Amino acid sequence: MPTSKSDNYIEIPEEARRVKAVFHTRPSDQHISDIKQWIRDGNPAFLNPYHTHTKPPANSSLVYRGEFDLLEKDVKAGRLAPCPCCSPNHGKYGRKGKIAWFPDEHVIRLLGPDCYKAIDREGHEQAIEEFRKEERREHEVRYLLGNEEKLRLTLKALMDGLELAKALDEFGAVLRKKIYDTMNLDLWPHINKGQLHLNQKRNEFIGWSSETTEVDVIVDYAKIGGYRLLNPETKALAALFNQPLDAFQFLDGVADWNSFVTGKTDEERHQLASLFSNARKAGTNALDRVADAKKLVSHETLATLRAWGRHPDCPYPFCLDFDETKVSVGRSVFPVVSIKIPEILSAYDSVPTMHLPGIKEA
Ligand SMILES: [Zn+2]
Repeated sequence: MPTSKSDNYIEIPEEARRVKAVFHTRPSDQHISDIKQWIRDGNPAFLNPYHTHTKPPANSSLVYRGEFDLLEKDVKAGRLAPCPCCSPNHGKYGRKGKIAWFPDEHVIRLLGPDCYKAIDREGHEQAIEEFRKEERREHEVRYLLGNEEKLRLTLKALMDGLELAKALDEFGAVLRKKIYDTMNLDLWPHINKGQLHLNQKRNEFIGWSSETTEVDVIVDYAKIGGYRLLNPETKALAALFNQPLDAFQFLDGVADWNSFVTGKTDEERHQLASLFSNARKAGTNALDRVADAKKLVSHETLATLRAWGRHPDCPYPFCLDFDETKVSVGRSVFPVVSIKIPEILSAYDSVPTMHLPGIKEA
């Protein structure tokens, strides 16, 4: 039974239509958060006391100040908000509603996400662009100011990581030289995937007969961490720290972080945030690589290598021994050469990590 007022007709009270021309200046952050709270509390958008429920005149200038979603349960149930632009008495939008300030009329209207586009496409697009820029600016300022301590701790973690990297580079270089050159052990082909094997013999039945024959099989023995440090072509770990340290190091020279960040132009601040974001990725990678390489010097890995080298089925028997201070290698128990383990590698229980959130997660 269709009528002029359909079932989902929304009765708009006079108060909602009353022009509240009180916003002579740009609505404050407090106004915006009041409106968002009103919506979060489940109140109808059109009843918000700041909202003027009249159609905006064409070619009025507007400034988007915020976005909001209705409560998920209302959106799902189809209880949408009416829009003064295009649908003043019927539900129209549920998500990404806009808080728009109309400076000429001094009013605020809560609108559907793209509704104003139909009234003034260019004005809408310009306002959206400005709004996104502002969002980015606020986000970046909040990120940079809110993470000062973590940024400084990141610098510290990277500097500590670099010291470990240098020690591992040095230790690895000596270890490789002694294994491959001095002792002439061709070990790498047997460990180059981090998986140690044994060559074993197994009896297998021949066809359907009861006779057996001995076959060679390769079986897994153990995995070892840090094996890349034994790669004859490995690259220096310390070099991985150059880029992230370059990005974070200037923090040391900045005493007043607040003024430094707020004194930047938007573009400079954006570049700074991107620089940190990239350096964070590179730094995480560098520290992960150090943590992995350091596993070679662990008791667990060295004990595994020692046992494997002496195993009767080891495809490449050799002798490795170690204590807290050195690793010794040889073809057999005598002669062996020893390599000193740098103190720093036993001093650190674990490799420092970064606790800086990414700008996207922040
Ligand atoms: Zn609309």
